[in-house]
Amino acid sequence: MKSGAKSGLVSKSLLIPVITMIAGGAAGALLVSIFLSGSDEPPAQIASAEQEQAAPAIVQEAAASVKQDIDVDIDTTEVLENNSEVTVAAYAPSTSESLNELTKTVSVNKGDTLMAVLTRAGADRTESHEAITALNEIFDPRSLKIGQDVTLYFATTDVDPSNSTATPGLVRVSLKEDVDRQLAAVRTPGEGFTAQETILELDRKTVRAGGVIQSSLFLSAAQAGIPTKTIVDLIRIFSYDVDFQREIQPGDSFEVYFERFADEDGRVLKDGAILWASMTLSGKEYSVYRFRTSDDGFTDYYNAQGQSVKKTLMRTPIDGARLTSGFGKRKHPTLGYTKMHRGVDFGARSGTPIMAAGNGIVEMAARNGGYGNYVRIRHNNEYKTAYAHMKKFGKGIRKGSRVKQGQIIGYVGSTGRSTGPHLHYEVHRNSKQINPLSVKLPAGRKLGGKILAAFQSHTNVIRQEVAGVELETQLASIKAE
Ligand SMILES: [Zn+2]
Repeated sequence: MKSGAKSGLVSKSLLIPVITMIAGGAAGALLVSIFLSGSDEPPAQIASAEQEQAAPAIVQEAAASVKQDIDVDIDTTEVLENNSEVTVAAYAPSTSESLNELTKTVSVNKGDTLMAVLTRAGADRTESHEAITALNEIFDPRSLKIGQDVTLYFATTDVDPSNSTATPGLVRVSLKEDVDRQLAAVRTPGEGFTAQETILELDRKTVRAGGVIQSSLFLSAAQAGIPTKTIVDLIRIFSYDVDFQREIQPGDSFEVYFERFADEDGRVLKDGAILWASMTLSGKEYSVYRFRTSDDGFTDYYNAQGQSVKKTLMRTPIDGARLTSGFGKRKHPTLGYTKMHRGVDFGARSGTPIMAAGNGIVEMAARNGGYGNYVRIRHNNEYKTAYAHMKKFGKGIRKGSRVKQGQIIGYVGSTGRSTGPHLHYEVHRNSKQINPLSVKLPAGRKLGGKILAAFQSHTNVIRQEVAGVELETQLASIKAE
């Protein structure tokens, strides 16, 4: 294959930036601390500030309604302000020093679970368990990162004024999941812990960037200074329609219009979603728009006609690999005789992630003779896909598990009858293997009626926006200045 060397280069460059992306979560540490001090402001402190102006005379009178009001107070400062006299009443018997309030921030160490972090900070196991259970509604415990800060707030929430010696309990656990997303479990007396999510508003900008594709989309986009995450998204969006191994020709071009979020000083903290993108291949233009359908709340990419770019199956379930062997008759590389090859082979480095080509249920995830470590997914009544020679399976991939399109189901290896690391990929239609590269893929959603009308006015707005923003061909140099 002539294009082998070129494609090989792409596969290497794709791998490195993905790792960089994972490691790149540390940006914006300054904002973190500002944000934490802002939103973690303990209710008791606010109460003591109000104390000076409030009349102590209402203490007895308010006592009956205290419990109920405190439930709300701990949740939001807004409500707290409205009911300031009640809050003061609750805390009035003691001064702010005797409230036994305490804030502790602990960093996540290697191998830590959230439970380990909380108990290390001095929280009681039962309370920690309750807080974690609440937090799990909005937080995936597997996304806990080494070095991530977890803030615990302890206070006496017992409202019985005679019980001033109560030991402070855990009332709030918070952690920052992203530069603009803070999660917390907050205790409400009588109701236990509830989950709370705070989204910080950053300055939103839009950027229009693009260029001519010299050797590969990935390299050209990287040279134009487009962030890796955006390039990976771009490739993923077009991967349903464009065969990146075969269709890209030198001289083809691309454009992408995406969001960027910055702090007050203009420092870019986060690159947002692609709002619009376009690729011109051999003179033919493909445009996609990001759009949220109001009936089901899903956000997806659609072409100008309102047809989802998503197909039931992805063409290539692996990023940046090169096709090393096609479908059909060939001389078998290890057995030496002519044999029907019932799938396609993608050469890639050992350990390269393999994605589920579509939503479905894992029918098999086990050792399977010459196939080595093998996964088969059933997508619907008609289609199944199979993946062979894996080094290992993805997390949670076992018979019966449900997978989403694009989810990592395993890693490239050379198990079974294989001469080197590659993915052997099969598409089964009505239980018969067919050529994955020539299969006419069943289409995703097509917008119609009112939703199509809303989509069309959205595309008009986006087109005007794009036309009003200058095309950057060198993002990196602009950033450096
Ligand atoms: Zn094969």
